[in-house]
Amino acid sequence: MTSRAAHHELQHFMEEAGDVVFRLAPTGQLVFASQRAIALLACGRELRGQPLVDHVADLDQPGFRLAVEAAQGAPEAGRIALRLKTPEHEVWHELRLSRFHADNGEAQLLIVGRDLTAQRATEDRLRHMATHDALTELPNRLLLSDRIRMVIAQARRSGQGFSVATVGLDGFKKVNDGLGHPIGDAVLSIAAARLRKTLRDSDTLARVGGDEFVAVLPGTCTEAQIKLVTGRLIATLQSPFEVDGHTIYVGASVGVAVYPQHAEDEVQLVALADAAMSRAKQTGKARCVVYNAAHNGPPEHDISLEAAMFQAVREGEFLLHYQPIVSGQNREIQGFETLMRWKHPTLGMVPPVRFIPIAENNGLINLLGAWALKAACVQLKQFEEVAKRSLYMSVNISPRQFRNDKFLDVLDDALAFSGVTGEQLVLEITEGTLMIDPVHAEAILSKMTERRARIAIDDFGTGYSSLAYLKRFPISVLKIDRTFIRDLPASQKDGAICNAVLDLAKHLGLSVVAEGVETEEQLQFLEQRGCQYIQGYLTGKPMPAHVALAALKESTYAKVVPSELRQAH
Ligand code: C2E
Ligand code: MG
Ligand code: MG
Repeated sequence: MTSRAAHHELQHFMEEAGDVVFRLAPTGQLVFASQRAIALLACGRELRGQPLVDHVADLDQPGFRLAVEAAQGAPEAGRIALRLKTPEHEVWHELRLSRFHADNGEAQLLIVGRDLTAQRATEDRLRHMATHDALTELPNRLLLSDRIRMVIAQARRSGQGFSVATVGLDGFKKVNDGLGHPIGDAVLSIAAARLRKTLRDSDTLARVGGDEFVAVLPGTCTEAQIKLVTGRLIATLQSPFEVDGHTIYVGASVGVAVYPQHAEDEVQLVALADAAMSRAKQTGKARCVVYNAAHNGPPEHDISLEAAMFQAVREGEFLLHYQPIVSGQNREIQGFETLMRWKHPTLGMVPPVRFIPIAENNGLINLLGAWALKAACVQLKQFEEVAKRSLYMSVNISPRQFRNDKFLDVLDDALAFSGVTGEQLVLEITEGTLMIDPVHAEAILSKMTERRARIAIDDFGTGYSSLAYLKRFPISVLKIDRTFIRDLPASQKDGAICNAVLDLAKHLGLSVVAEGVETEEQLQFLEQRGCQYIQGYLTGKPMPAHVALAALKESTYAKVVPSELRQAH
């Protein structure tokens, strides 16, 4: 068979196989097109002599460049994907490229293509499903991250900042619970459409949770710009939603974080915008709050603090201080509260208000708390030996520790290891801890009291509005929060609260500890009203064990903590 005959046979075979066949000259012109190619690209009109470029949908596609280069003699890429233009629409083709030597000696490119449009459409659909929310068709969290990363890259190049705004619907749960999910879904779809309409095309709007949306706003970074955009977002959700004959009102709270002032990566930006939105909800709803490290969540610094905590546990940087709790009658030390300290190698003493919430959040509190309880019990034994009398130890138990299944084992272990008996131990919990799950709390508390440990309500008066729980749970001690002590005796209101707590405790048979006593006047006020226990800087700051030991020796004689020891911290 001559090469020409072989070529014809090949062409025939390809027409039968349903493929599109072209030959491309080094000039980029089509020198041959199969019947199928002609039908597809030119509605049956001749294609020969036309440049390929006329039939390519997008000249920037890498496939087009590769095809032209191969026609000009570059090593051919084998297979390329190319989006072609037909008179009606665009089609994806997978093209196989190979060198073809024409009869005139010209090295042409033989292109055999197969329609990939259906396959591409399925792939596109799957990709869309993976990156979009099914209800609103908005980008989901996955695509949002990509988009923010892109906007960060642009912002780095242009030096212009941008904002991320989290929009939470106010009162959406009520709609869903009260009117049912289909109506809830309809509200969400309308809300999505309204939000989208207030934004520019270059802004991204994503749905990231049940009733939460995130808008990425390139170029929006001044206060005035943020106000304008978020004001529109809030306003558009304020007009009523008409669904199925219901007129529904929801609003929106918005939180904003700005790149690069607040954070420089997409995860942090969304987290901080979220924190700001929570604050907007807490402080009245239907408003916008721009992230402020002073108000919201752990400041940026605490993110690195969290990493340092694990290291600190390994390095033994946590230690315990003990604050005397003295008698309201004779100021003799009755016991101590164990207060945790973190001695960071460069930051110095990190206060517990900064690290306890982080440990509570990541679970490290279980480990730290178990250690503190055991160490405090061992320390109590030594205190008693020196004081030659019985003392008690008060230990803070966080909500997470309290809920932990292993807590009773931890308690038993601490008692058994140290030889301390249950009645020498006071476990301090807050009202909030009891209220998270009262049924569980009741069970745990009864197990604690079986071990004869006493339960104190810490920061009493700051947590819960109903006092009924005092009847329900086996509580022995109320610790009046120091905010009620601070302005004594001048503040009549605080005086009345302290009187009421002391009265209530007397009738319920509970002991009272006044926290944060700093002045003689405060102490006298409390003494006169029969407050049994006093804890505060006046009678002793939290101090290392060796200083507390010295105080115990002294107090055998003086019954008060010497003034130089009050300063220890
Ligand atoms: P808290 O249990 O209410 O502890 C009393 C806090 O008041 C302590 O703060 C103490 O130093 C401070 N304080 C005592 N007397 C005075 C005073 O006269 N004036 C003033 N201004 N403050 C006084 P600290 O040590 O910073 O601890 C803060 C909180 O951290 C504690 O509040 C407790 O909730 C938590 N915490 C401390 N150690 C532990 C621990 O081992 N475990 C757990 N779960 N929480 C702990
Ligand atoms: Mg406490
Ligand atoms: Mg307290």
